[in-house]
Amino acid sequence: ADGADRSDDGWRPVGIDISTPSIARVYDAVLGGKDNYPVDRAIAEASLAIVAEIGDVARYNRAILGRAVRFMAEQGIRQFLDLGSGLPTVQNTHQVAQAHSPEARVVYVDKDPIVLAHGRALLAENEYTTVVTADLREPADILNHPDVRALIDFDQPVGLMLVGVVHHLNDDEGPERIVEEYKAALPAGSFLFLTHFCASSPDALALEKALLTDLGSGRFRTLEEIAAYFDGFESIDPGVVFLPQWRPEEPVQEPLTVGQRLMAGGIARKPT
Ligand code: SAM
Repeated sequence: ADGADRSDDGWRPVGIDISTPSIARVYDAVLGGKDNYPVDRAIAEASLAIVAEIGDVARYNRAILGRAVRFMAEQGIRQFLDLGSGLPTVQNTHQVAQAHSPEARVVYVDKDPIVLAHGRALLAENEYTTVVTADLREPADILNHPDVRALIDFDQPVGLMLVGVVHHLNDDEGPERIVEEYKAALPAGSFLFLTHFCASSPDALALEKALLTDLGSGRFRTLEEIAAYFDGFESIDPGVVFLPQWRPEEPVQEPLTVGQRLMAGGIARKPT
């Protein structure tokens, strides 16, 4: 009656394939969550063998997400489109945004149906937040999706979030064009917040190779390539930097470690 399949030993929501790794579940495993399976944990452990700080890297990414959503809320943003949002964890976008402004609207989009399965419970009581299962490589489908349109008014500034996800797209999938399509749909005063694995060290390249083999797609990009996703938008201080350097709450020790340089990102504003 609850949609669960209990025909094997472990509980799992219907429609979830536990024989193939899922990016959302691997990331959950790296963060120390419980919504993952042996196939996912094997990849998390292989990543840990290459970059011992991988758990910290995921936490830097969650930490900048919290700082950046708070920043956008302080700038007056009341609607957020979070693409490749992942499984619910600590400091989810709607919790940070609604702590600042209780009527802030958040649409989570993820291609992995497990995100909807787990998000539903969390969001059952929240009329300003929803989860859409869709592939961000189809911007028109997402931008015109009735559940997106029900919460997001594209005549008002939007916080567009592509956090830890564009590095899962291959070059031949046209990530620049995809990001541009979303940017074009936003009104002036909107923000783009993007983080991305950075090709910043030999260990980063080794991790890229392993993830490409295990997950089948993706590319780590240079700081310049990451900065290019923001082209045409006004840079917000400090620009595109390694994650711990983005408006840190405490001073950051230099030089940064390999893990601290493994992801980069920033925020920029659509000009009038
Ligand atoms: N944004 C969250 C964060 O930064 O904490 C989660 C990042 S997680 C590493 C990447 C997420 O993007 C996964 O949940 C995965 O399912 C999702 N994803 C990957 N490719 C996608 C696509 N083409 N369309 C929608 N979601 C995608």
